[in-house]
Amino acid sequence: MTHAIRFEKIGGPEVLTLQDIDLPPPGAHEARVRHTAIGVNFIDIYHRTGLYKLPLPAGLGMEAAGVVESIGPQVTRVAPGDRVAYASAPVGAYSEAANIAATRLVKLPDGVTDDIAAASLLKGLTAHYLLRRTYAVKKGDHILFHAAAGGVGMLAVQWARSLGAVVIATVGSHEKVPFAQNLGAAHVIVSRTENIAGRVREITGGKGVPVVYDSIGRDTFMASLDSLAPLGLFVSFGNASGPLPPFDASILAQKGSLYFTRPTLANYVSTPAELDAAAAELFDVIARGAVRVRPPKKFSLAQAADAHRAIESRQTTGSLVLVPD
Ligand code: NDP
Repeated sequence: MTHAIRFEKIGGPEVLTLQDIDLPPPGAHEARVRHTAIGVNFIDIYHRTGLYKLPLPAGLGMEAAGVVESIGPQVTRVAPGDRVAYASAPVGAYSEAANIAATRLVKLPDGVTDDIAAASLLKGLTAHYLLRRTYAVKKGDHILFHAAAGGVGMLAVQWARSLGAVVIATVGSHEKVPFAQNLGAAHVIVSRTENIAGRVREITGGKGVPVVYDSIGRDTFMASLDSLAPLGLFVSFGNASGPLPPFDASILAQKGSLYFTRPTLANYVSTPAELDAAAAELFDVIARGAVRVRPPKKFSLAQAADAHRAIESRQTTGSLVLVPD
């Protein structure tokens, strides 16, 4: 038996309950990971609210760090006692332990604590593919990054800055402005009170930016489109304010022959080689201090609902983790 957060129907944070579940021995290609820190990600909210549908009843969570307790007979990638982390489906990381395909595990370097790993693996792998692969950020690029003070934003702004980009960041409130500035954002726009596209045009001398990273979705869709330079790339990677409205592709022509992509992490780390290469780059920028991961705000596993309330309220900065009792 192990404790896990489960939910039987979609809804508010109150649908989350701590339950006893059976955990079978790991399968032939799996490792049993005893969790020490569990990442809270906005996708967990989409799962809980039904924006992304799961067969119910379901567990929750896609990211954790901990120690390998036992392995299936075919596993060679990790061994009992290894410190590891993962950031992938299937959901169920909000639990004391889980059986995970060994190919999805990354070994943690000594310099990365379990808390830091749970605070940064999923979000850091996301920042990696966004900045290095979806659009390869170059020295001198002006880029627009929304929700810059959030979990992904905290890592991405610093990483983009270290690549030489001039980061134009958005945050939801004035209180978050200093946080985004400390990450290295050159310009910070308060999205709830300022005209985002107007400010971006002003900052870029009317040109607009070559890339917008938009995880807010519905509320920022038009502002993001209007911030792009001709041939610019709209990277729509989340929907914190709700999904995008259906749109007519001709709007991309009208706004300057724009490109649009809707990427997701799983496609960028679909093989162990891709996962290892991306994780190595992430651990390298952390080790060099180019990306500093602020210690995450901690909640007990049983308080998962409170962690959800906090992140949905737009009050949080950086990452949140759950810690099993
Ligand atoms: P965050 O810590 O960034 O929290 C979400 C942030 O979104 C809030 O802090 C808030 O910042 C902003 N926001 C804007 N509008 C709303 C709203 N109506 N309700 C709530 N929040 C709002 O979360 P994560 O770091 O976990 O994830 C960031 C985004 O990246 C999410 O949209 C997530 O889905 C996406 N993501 C996508 C991945 C992919 O591969 N496609 C992988 C990982 C994450 P503010 O108030 O400052 O605007």
